[in-house]
Amino acid sequence: MNRSQTKVLIEEVIGSLKKSNRFLEMSDEKKRGMVLDSAAEILKTTDKIIKSYIRVSTDEGEIQRIPAYRVQHNNISGFYKGGIRYSEEVSEEEVENLAILMTLKNALHELPFGGAKGGVHINPREYTERELNLISKKYVQRFAINLGPTQDIPAPDMGTDERVIDWMVGEYKTIHPGQAYIGSFTGKSVENGGARGRRESTGIGTFLSYFYLVKQWLEDNAETMSEKEKLRTKQWETLHSMEEKCNNKDPVEVAVQGFGNVGSVAALEAYNCSEVKHAVTAVSDQFVMLINKEGLNIEKLAAYAEKHKQLPDTAEKLKQENIEAQIAEPGGIAVFDCDVLIFAAIADQVTKDNMRSVKADILVEGANAPISVNADLYLQEQGKIIIPDILANAGGVHVSYLEWKQSRVTEMYKKEEILNEMSGQMKDTFKKVYDAYFTSDEYTMRFTCYTMALKRLISLLYRHGKLF
Ligand code: NAD
Repeated sequence: MNRSQTKVLIEEVIGSLKKSNRFLEMSDEKKRGMVLDSAAEILKTTDKIIKSYIRVSTDEGEIQRIPAYRVQHNNISGFYKGGIRYSEEVSEEEVENLAILMTLKNALHELPFGGAKGGVHINPREYTERELNLISKKYVQRFAINLGPTQDIPAPDMGTDERVIDWMVGEYKTIHPGQAYIGSFTGKSVENGGARGRRESTGIGTFLSYFYLVKQWLEDNAETMSEKEKLRTKQWETLHSMEEKCNNKDPVEVAVQGFGNVGSVAALEAYNCSEVKHAVTAVSDQFVMLINKEGLNIEKLAAYAEKHKQLPDTAEKLKQENIEAQIAEPGGIAVFDCDVLIFAAIADQVTKDNMRSVKADILVEGANAPISVNADLYLQEQGKIIIPDILANAGGVHVSYLEWKQSRVTEMYKKEEILNEMSGQMKDTFKKVYDAYFTSDEYTMRFTCYTMALKRLISLLYRHGKLF
């Protein structure tokens, strides 16, 4: 889902809020229309787009100028917040889209943050540790005046990790001597004031978004189900067939695209799930897809990926690690035959070109924007359940909030406390969204999420006196 699709969806949701006069009730209907129009203008426009060129000298003595971005979309619900991505796909358009999604995600989960995102146009694999350190420090130098614990708080994203964030905090501290610096970034190492469990949080939350639905939410709604099932009948059928699978001896088959921070943890959650038997039958990264219809050994694969920063991609490597798997091209995973497909890599993986070949019943967006708007609609018509990014992958920002809070009280929370708090908060939001989605047959689950997020943002804009 790209930037223009996101903006069109914002416009459509606000258009539908305009039609239902139960939101933002006003005696003057014309005024209400104008207020909502100005909300649409504000939320489709980005507060600040900062582009810079980072100049680095490589180990070979070459000077490179690398495009780098920080985009601050909106801060009506709190300080700007969003990750920094190192990838060759980074562009101004992509970073802006991701910043808008952060605003919506934080609003949906009622976190006290606005939306931002950062990006550096590099393939981090092509740089040495010294070069990456230099790039990370220069990033902070370029954007320092726009960052800070009560301004804009970055975190890791694709291609970055706690090591990069620790370097960035170090540079921030050098630039701002004497100022509070620990809350300026989240996703730091635990030794450097990071939250325990931050690395695992997005993957855990992503798996939970599906598992909560097919176990707890379904059980909680069992009594009143027959009444509700008159609407969205195809999705209810999917839920019931998943329920049957969960109660069956045969495992629920899961495939995961992307095997980094998010994907490897989501796959481990499925592999280690004690309540319901799961078999992770396929995983992929940018180089390879590994398949085993009986279930892959995810523990061994995660240990390998942690060490080598990629999956084993040859028969010899698999043999050496004693892992049974067939090797295939990575592109095929989006249409792989499985029950649950978790996206944890890059955007635009299911579009109108391949949507007709998707076989999974439940698609979970651990990654940002992997499914296009057209594909989302088409798949929903087929009875599939699509759990959108701003709902599914918020575990990281929930824990980031706790990390930021921890820096203000100078107290370290236990890992268990953090993950329990995160899961509890996420379940509250899942419940809210699933209750609304499964009792109406009008829109996609993404539309439901956007509606909830935008209602919160518009109410805040109105209360702050920004809408006339
Ligand atoms: P990561 O860098 O740790 O891992 C990314 C994985 O995707 C790697 O296995 C990589 O090989 C794979 N990949 C890259 N390009 C690919 C391609 N063309 N085809 C298939 N696989 C490819 O990144 P991450 O932190 O796990 O983030 C993954 C996704 O989750 C991103 O979309 C990110 O925005 C989103 N996300 C991450 C967090 C977080 O806390 N890390 C939070 C919310 C959302």
